Amino acid sequence: MAPADASIEQNAQGIITGWSAESEALFGWPREQAVGMRSHLLIPERNRERHDRALASLASRSEHPIDRREMTALHRDGHEFRAEFAISIEGRGDALRVIALVRAMTPDVRTEAAFRQNERYRAILDQIQDGCSVVDLRGFYLFVNDAFCRIFGLPRERLVGRNYRDTQNPVRHVRTFEIFNSVYRTGQPVTYEYQVTPSRLFIEQSISLERDPGGKPIAFISIYRDCTARKVAEETLAGAKEAAEAANRAKSEFLANMSHEIRTPMNGIIGMTALALDTALTAQQSEYLLTIRDQAHSLLTVVNDVLDFSKIESRHLEIESVPFGLHELVRELIAPLTVAARDKRIDLLTAVAADVPPIVAGDPVRLKQVLTNLIGNAVKFTQRGSVTLEVGVQEQLEGAATLRFRVVDTGVGIPVEKHEAIFEPFRQGDGSMTRRFGGTGLGLAIASRLAQLMGGRIAVESAPGAGSTFDFTVTLGTSRTDLAQPAAASSASAASPGGAGAQLPARILVAEDNVINQRVAAGLLAKRGHQVTVVSNGREAIDALRAATFDIVLMDVQMPDMDGFEATAAIRRLEQDRGSRVRIVAMTAHAMTGDRERCLAAGMDGYLAKPIDQRALYDAVEG
Ligand code: ADP
Repeated sequence: MAPADASIEQNAQGIITGWSAESEALFGWPREQAVGMRSHLLIPERNRERHDRALASLASRSEHPIDRREMTALHRDGHEFRAEFAISIEGRGDALRVIALVRAMTPDVRTEAAFRQNERYRAILDQIQDGCSVVDLRGFYLFVNDAFCRIFGLPRERLVGRNYRDTQNPVRHVRTFEIFNSVYRTGQPVTYEYQVTPSRLFIEQSISLERDPGGKPIAFISIYRDCTARKVAEETLAGAKEAAEAANRAKSEFLANMSHEIRTPMNGIIGMTALALDTALTAQQSEYLLTIRDQAHSLLTVVNDVLDFSKIESRHLEIESVPFGLHELVRELIAPLTVAARDKRIDLLTAVAADVPPIVAGDPVRLKQVLTNLIGNAVKFTQRGSVTLEVGVQEQLEGAATLRFRVVDTGVGIPVEKHEAIFEPFRQGDGSMTRRFGGTGLGLAIASRLAQLMGGRIAVESAPGAGSTFDFTVTLGTSRTDLAQPAAASSASAASPGGAGAQLPARILVAEDNVINQRVAAGLLAKRGHQVTVVSNGREAIDALRAATFDIVLMDVQMPDMDGFEATAAIRRLEQDRGSRVRIVAMTAHAMTGDRERCLAAGMDGYLAKPIDQRALYDAVEG
């Protein structure tokens, strides 16, 4: 026969007033000590506050049905055990009495018996590497194998017959209860991972529901797999990947800085060559200078490619979204390429479908760059026949359209096995071609990455001797709000947004610290009849503006003493008092995205990238 329940009585203050012999047997406290003691000493300290609150709330109710609950109880000797409490409340106010009938919970006898019969299986389970445990539906361990004891560093006697909610329990974390619940509710096994303290092993635990032959759930079976090696490998790998990515970014930043440093002296070489070409020269001298000019431009292309590629790789490149005219963009991008096509006697054709929206929103500069690269390659690798740019609408969407650009040539073609490699940096279809046609092998790598950044894709179809077709799809905005202020495609690139240019000849102040660059700018401007004053930092520029009137200031951004941003801000402040406004155009070798915005935000009106292009300079000054 089961032992009688322990009966405990307490008053409104939570002091024990009644204590049966069974209570002494269950909790270990003799009657003399128990009576007068606070009743919450019968449960573990961590639960006392919560228990006191629950009791107070029970007492405050008007009705007092018997409250049955399962709790962890605390024996006088400090061990914890699961018990069922049936709590009833009588009377109210100071006369309130709480009577609790307490019964220790034990493992489910029938389930336990069922597991005891399987001695052979238990012996087998002791041989396996993975930990294994069986817990009945009340949370009592019925079985643990040797590996389980090893993993958690606990002897079997401390576990079997004990409840998993006990503090000593190794897998007593908050989620266990939730997970048991979910396995019970859904019948679906659950696997999860955690780290065991203090062994620091990572364990993958799978819990599933064991059923009796009638399909009734009877226990939870858990398998514990030591996954420390995998976890450590994963962490090492993640660390290594991060380090590699950081190193790659650092390399790209280095490249970006280096190409910036190269662009500054290039400015001097290109500018001085242009000036020299304008002087009286012998035929031989001018041939040499023209070669220098062409070579300098090729070098600049390489530097620009490296700079672009490293900007993309170091994630410094941002894609704009501004309205622009597609037809203008096509015209602008084809014009410079027709020269090369004409020289080679091949036809350069464009076919823009009638349903292509005239104005779209996107990044015109980058779109132009991708298409220029594809068409440039097509012209380069075609000896006879034609190169055609086709523009069509692939899909019309709400507020956007997916456009398809196809560059079709009748050139040498590319073998199928090279179709992937040509999009990799520094890889070319055929090494011998480089000698024939030149190039860095960066063009398509940049174009395909730019296409991706714009949310598009470049694909190639080609075979040797059969020509090539490069296909580029990209989705561009067409909604009215995007297109509020359409602009010419080129205006987003270099100079002069807003404000008409100066009348000829103009009074120009050049603020630039590099002597060579001073001479280049002054020389190019003087050639057009402008009056040029040169100063070498921001402070001198302000002084010059105080002393005389200028139509335009060409302002280097990086200067010693006072840089271009500071100087511009100071000039704009001065002008507020005077009510006049001089045009300020920035000159910078920092060809990074965001620079243009920074210059405009600082109060400048335009932006010129160094090395200064003669045409762009005149456009900026003369507008
Ligand atoms: P490159 O600067 O060498 O032209 P790209 O990345 O632009 O570098 O092109 C990589 C390679 O792809 C080229 O060297 C060439 O072999 C091949 N290629 C690109 N476009 C064409 C084309 N239209 N016809 C034939 N081969 C091409």
